[in-house]
Amino acid sequence: MLALLRHCPIVSMPLARAVRPPPRSHVRPCFTALAYAPGAKSDSQVLLGLSKKNLQQIAMDFGQESYRAKQLHHFIYQRKVREIQDFTLLPLGFRNALQEAGWKVGRSPIFQTVTAADGTIKLLLKLEDNRLIETVGIPVMVDGCVTRLTACVSSQVGCPLRCSFCATGKGGFSRNLKAHEIVEQVLAIEEVFNCRVTNVVFMGMGEPMLNLKAVLEAHHCLNKDVQIGQRMITISTVGVPNTIQKLASHKLQSTLAVSLHAPNQKLRETIVPSAKSYPLDALMADCRDYFRKTSRRVSFEYALLAGINDSVHHAAELAKLLHDSGSGYHVNLIPFNPIEGSEFQRPSKRAVLAFVGALESSKITVSVRQTRGLDANAACGQLRNKFQRTPLVADPFDLAVTC
Ligand code: SF4
Repeated sequence: MLALLRHCPIVSMPLARAVRPPPRSHVRPCFTALAYAPGAKSDSQVLLGLSKKNLQQIAMDFGQESYRAKQLHHFIYQRKVREIQDFTLLPLGFRNALQEAGWKVGRSPIFQTVTAADGTIKLLLKLEDNRLIETVGIPVMVDGCVTRLTACVSSQVGCPLRCSFCATGKGGFSRNLKAHEIVEQVLAIEEVFNCRVTNVVFMGMGEPMLNLKAVLEAHHCLNKDVQIGQRMITISTVGVPNTIQKLASHKLQSTLAVSLHAPNQKLRETIVPSAKSYPLDALMADCRDYFRKTSRRVSFEYALLAGINDSVHHAAELAKLLHDSGSGYHVNLIPFNPIEGSEFQRPSKRAVLAFVGALESSKITVSVRQTRGLDANAACGQLRNKFQRTPLVADPFDLAVTC
């Protein structure tokens, strides 16, 4: 996520208020796995996202042997079957009973795919409420074979934060994604590429920390059921007050990526308006705490915007900020990927190299993100905006951090 925060005009309230947790009586406990309540009825009962244990309970509720749960699990997560009727190893009576009880797999149709010359494929999934979300598969090929496949997943339908250079922010916000709607993005990418996803980054549409409960549930499912190692998963944030500490308390072995984009508070506030609610020193203290609790280094994302934050002076200031904040950091530079109507420009190659040199000479570990899929509307939100231009409406209560 190229994440720069700004005030949210949709909900017309400061971010600190927008993300304030709901009253205590409404705070539900934080689950690490999706819950299945035996006998519970809901509008749609979705199998995707459930653990083997939950599936076992369902099988038993329907009078089936417990080994049927393994078969369900296999069909959902390994074979990626979309319809219950196609769970061919299961007895027809069981399949019919599941459907009659309102169960479904919970996979959304792929509405559109766009393939870039470098093999990056962007998918639009059409959710049950007809909203479109983007997800991107980014392969690394060696001798014609995919050696690494990264899924860049969305966590919200749109995004309320409206970062000025982000197409998703310009498209507005509708709602948080449910955990299974996050998991299904990974399965859709595996289906399209016909190979396993090796890495997942929460850098698609939305701010994951504003939907932390579902993100944690999806993380759990991706790790335990889809079998992607925790260390292969990155959760990205522009910084939402109090959420990095919450994430740290789960002691995940995943990478936290913080979108910094400026080496000082004053400049950051102009690029990341919500920084007013979450000063840089507080953000850095939370990052230090994350490293202390998880022993996982924090990656700082820094979008290089020509003439704004890309000088060697900014690099020197960034190096000082990181040295003053301790160790365990890595900087990931992202030369800005221009979007339609943006006032920002991509920095020259020379400016990028000078920035890298200045960081390296101060002994900061740095990498430059290769721009992938430029010809496939790959910047977050661009493709979705092509097909869904109607403004999305935010319900401020959806923005409450619920974990
Ligand atoms: S998805 Fe949201 S938080 Fe991320 S860059 Fe876009 S507007 Fe900012």
